[in-house]
Amino acid sequence: MQLEKLQAFVLSNSDYGESDRIVSLFTLEHGRLKGFARGARNSQKRFGPALEPFARINLQLNLKHGLSTLRGADVITLYTGIRGALGAIAHGLYACELVECLTPEGQPQPRLYRLLAAYLERLDSGQSEEPDRRMFEINVLNILGYRPSLEGCSRCGSPFDAHGALMQQGGELVCRFCAVTGRQIPPAILHCLKSCLATGRFGQVVIDEELLVAVAALLDESVATHCARKLKSLEFLRQTSRQGET
Ligand SMILES: [Zn+2]
Repeated sequence: MQLEKLQAFVLSNSDYGESDRIVSLFTLEHGRLKGFARGARNSQKRFGPALEPFARINLQLNLKHGLSTLRGADVITLYTGIRGALGAIAHGLYACELVECLTPEGQPQPRLYRLLAAYLERLDSGQSEEPDRRMFEINVLNILGYRPSLEGCSRCGSPFDAHGALMQQGGELVCRFCAVTGRQIPPAILHCLKSCLATGRFGQVVIDEELLVAVAALLDESVATHCARKLKSLEFLRQTSRQGET
């Protein structure tokens, strides 16, 4: 069987049996896949710290449908800046779990790969701010085709006017002629999210406190709609955010 050389992020890992590990990977070349790392728990020699969550690695594996076999892995970066701060760890784990939950298996997503790299680099530099997380989320949803319509009503197609939009269950945005109830989404929020999509860089869009609350509500709803399960890292993220407030 041919040995493939790939670049990847480790999204998560779990123990298997006495000495093995199953690793969820997001590769540049093949998108998300699962790898079987034989002996990874017993011997540090072959894999070292390369299979830790959000490590960026070069890896060698035999590609198979369902479960590939890892032959070796070398660390590109462990993002030690993230690992030294609880808030950054929580954001990093959340980013990886979001990618793991939303991306289909075996489909390359090079734009998403670059976005995850940029976000982890941002976290690694000591920034673990809420606006960056929201910027990451709207871009993830956009790349995967899940983002709510920001330009016009998702039902009748008319552009949003000065009244903005009404959010329906599942984060759908519609105009006031297509729905009579729903959370009011002012034009400022739509504009803010469009700016997050237009700029390719973290830290470029300023989101004030008031705007952030509304942006967060919209994105939480959209993310929850498209994730088939509740994200484990979300509770950890909430806990560390609360600690940061006190
Ligand atoms: Zn409409």
